[in-house]
Amino acid sequence: MVVELISVGTELLLGNIVNTNAAFLSEQCAALGLSCYYQSVVGDNKERLTGAIQTALNRSDIVILTGGLGPTTDDLTKETAAELMEMPLIMDGHSLERIEVYFKERGLEMTDNNKKQALIPDGAIVLDNDNGTAPGLILEKNGKRLILLPGPPNELHPMFKNSVKSYLASLEDGIIYSRTVKICGMGESKVASMVQDLIDSQTNPTVAPYAKTGEVHLRVTARAKDEKQAQKLVKPVVKELKNRFGADIYTTDPEISLEKAVVDLLVANKLTVSTIESCTGGMLAARLINIPGVSEVFKTGHITYSNKSKRKFVGVKKSTLHKYGAVSEQVAKEMANGCAAITKSDVTVSVTGIAGPDGGSDEKPVGLVYIGCCVCGKTVVKEYHFSGNRAKIRESSVAAALTLMRRCVLEYYSEVTFR
Ligand code: ATP
Repeated sequence: MVVELISVGTELLLGNIVNTNAAFLSEQCAALGLSCYYQSVVGDNKERLTGAIQTALNRSDIVILTGGLGPTTDDLTKETAAELMEMPLIMDGHSLERIEVYFKERGLEMTDNNKKQALIPDGAIVLDNDNGTAPGLILEKNGKRLILLPGPPNELHPMFKNSVKSYLASLEDGIIYSRTVKICGMGESKVASMVQDLIDSQTNPTVAPYAKTGEVHLRVTARAKDEKQAQKLVKPVVKELKNRFGADIYTTDPEISLEKAVVDLLVANKLTVSTIESCTGGMLAARLINIPGVSEVFKTGHITYSNKSKRKFVGVKKSTLHKYGAVSEQVAKEMANGCAAITKSDVTVSVTGIAGPDGGSDEKPVGLVYIGCCVCGKTVVKEYHFSGNRAKIRESSVAAALTLMRRCVLEYYSEVTFR
């Protein structure tokens, strides 16, 4: 089946907001095995929206629209779609009741405008909105389908996962099943070259790489008549990937992030951790602290940005700073070791680098970062050369620090060997 996306909203056209809904929906549809050949963005204008929906319906089986379901007069998606599908709007008692409860629970006054959100195209399937007032809607006619979803991502994502996903899956013969193998510490081209033969030769399941900052995910997707059959197809390919990537795979669980894998590893080994960051300014600590349960292991997060603070808080030697510079292997090592001595943590991680755009030189260019990791007195420092802007270099540094922590702990405790 061919699906098409239309994002509605003038603020998208003006660049005031980034179209993350389209990215989310494309990824979800691809995972369901649906083909998406077109996406478009249209402003809050009835004529142009009508044209966009008509064009989409002519070339796709399912059209998913997001945004424009709100209570104000510029929210036109529902009215426009109902008119095109010749399904007059009627009041839906169930939706009205839900909207009334929504306002009552929050002690807010409900206006007549909000009642408008309970009007639904006659015959539409209603998708309850647990996080807002506009219900989602599915309009079906003559083999064509329009799916109308709210714009705010915190309303859209749960609605898609809880209702739309199973609806779309029910339209396809058989099911789509996928597993994601998550690899850290290796670039996309290296990973792709190691699985090119699988990508080229496999049609069911397929293997597709997705690059993230500091990580690459390989999604193995099979289509089959039921889940058991699909699992059977996916299993040997995942096994082969495990053979090829070994300990560089940090999980095959879609819910586990790199920081969660690191925190789980520390908790499992009862290892306390502290961080000491320069150019990442606390981002490493923040990613770790995002994980519930980290309080069992996380002790202290230092930000030592200036040379003076590196000396004062963790005892980096003046002579080391003078001789090698703040961005150096030696300083990263003294930061990690000093942090270990002061915090008495089992694991400490240091980051020092040049995030740019200024401050680089021929000898030490922007993107040069040193990361140190000390596990129970054994310290490893690695040198990295990241590209991109300041934000990207800082994000890459955090991902690399998490990867190095994981690696050092595994090598120390499990005698796992990496390439
Ligand atoms: P509401 O009921 O809140 O009015 P709505 O369905 O009418 O929702 P819009 O009014 O179009 O949706 O958008 C509301 C907000 O949702 C926007 O200000 C924006 O923050 C977010 N949003 C809308 N569309 C997108 C999109 N395509 N990508 C990311 N965020 C979006």
